[in-house]
Amino acid sequence: MRKLTPLTSVHALFDWSKSHDPSLAAYRLLGGYQAFNDIRKKTSLEPLLDQIEQSMLTGKGGANFPTHRKMRLMLAQGGDRKILVVNGSEHEPGSLKDRYLIENVPHKVLEGALIAAHAVKANEIVVAINEGSSDAVTSFRNALQELLSNPDIDFSGISITVQTVPEIYIVGEETALLETLEGKTPLPRSKPPFPIQEGLHGLPTLVQNVETVAHLPFIFSAGAASYRALGRNGNGVTLCTLGKEFINPGVYEIPLGTSIREVLYEWGRGLQNGTAIKCVQPGGPSSGFLSSSDFDAPLDAKALGQYGSALGCAVIRAYSVNECMVQRIGEIMHFFAETSCGQCPRCRMETNMLDTIVKQVLAGKGTPKLLDKVEDVIKLATGQGICSLIGMPVAPIRTGLCLFYDEFLAHLENRCTCCTTRNEPQRVGQGIEGSQHDRPA
Ligand code: SF4
Repeated sequence: MRKLTPLTSVHALFDWSKSHDPSLAAYRLLGGYQAFNDIRKKTSLEPLLDQIEQSMLTGKGGANFPTHRKMRLMLAQGGDRKILVVNGSEHEPGSLKDRYLIENVPHKVLEGALIAAHAVKANEIVVAINEGSSDAVTSFRNALQELLSNPDIDFSGISITVQTVPEIYIVGEETALLETLEGKTPLPRSKPPFPIQEGLHGLPTLVQNVETVAHLPFIFSAGAASYRALGRNGNGVTLCTLGKEFINPGVYEIPLGTSIREVLYEWGRGLQNGTAIKCVQPGGPSSGFLSSSDFDAPLDAKALGQYGSALGCAVIRAYSVNECMVQRIGEIMHFFAETSCGQCPRCRMETNMLDTIVKQVLAGKGTPKLLDKVEDVIKLATGQGICSLIGMPVAPIRTGLCLFYDEFLAHLENRCTCCTTRNEPQRVGQGIEGSQHDRPA
């Protein structure tokens, strides 16, 4: 894995500038595990969830669902065995934040997991890590061993295990992850029942992203108000991965509410090739494109939704003014066609049809009527899938057609000025470290 250097000017949450030592001793010197030791004594759990609600923390795995709501549902579940799965599978192309946390601040992840488990009365923690992140797996296992050998941190009654999971995109979907952890083929499950009702091995299971739990130690040591104050909009911070097209690629802790323009040009320092940025996807391949006229939009899930885009897990992908967007959209459609697990006929139909339509446009075959078929295909598929992947090609193709319709027409008329050749669409994320997207076996 490429070593990335986060900016040191903003480090409140993860102590980036204070220590790059992942050991327990270094973490404890920074006050590590104090928050867990404090809340461990509390038997009244609702106030803990109130504090998470006040922090405005939302899931960092892509859905941005309010964390406290999921945790309240889990706390309400009865039973002697309840499981917290910490999802570190991180299959979003280009995303490196979770493996960065697991490798560099493993005790922050462990403490956050213990806090979450205590708050929802879970007695088993399973940490799922992408098997391709061998350094992260080693670092985390070492950290767990240190924790197990330390009598000062009492987490009796809570077991912690680590499981590696394959580098297959669909494994990131939480029920496909549960299937994988049970040793089965990673296929998303029909819902209901939801994992909180019947999850891993049929037991109540809360699935939380690695970064989400890693925010909890700060919230419980500094307080919800201090956490919120880290954001420009009062909503805290988030980790973003800036791709290798930037002068300063890397994983950054960025205050929510920062403008997209600032993220691109202040944090990322613009594109390596020196060209202006035509558009950006702020939340990975399933997020809608924002054109340069919308770069004042704030980095915030709700606000980006109003622009037809999404924050997702904050993989920031920028496109140069010289890039052919039909090519790029073709890569994205091809990616979703390849990663659909194939269980749902409408998902297979939609992802393959959209891939085929854009390929035809790239080949200069067809008329503008071909582009009208996109909405027909989307309409047939809407709401017909077991998981959310069926909706993932929608925002990029819709916003792409809206913003770059002239480029689609230029391709149909074989006069695209950005393309010198008619290449077959490449896989999205190709060349971005940490992106793998094979079909399940
Ligand atoms: S919606 Fe697509 S990816 Fe999801 S279960 Fe159905 S076929 Fe598989």
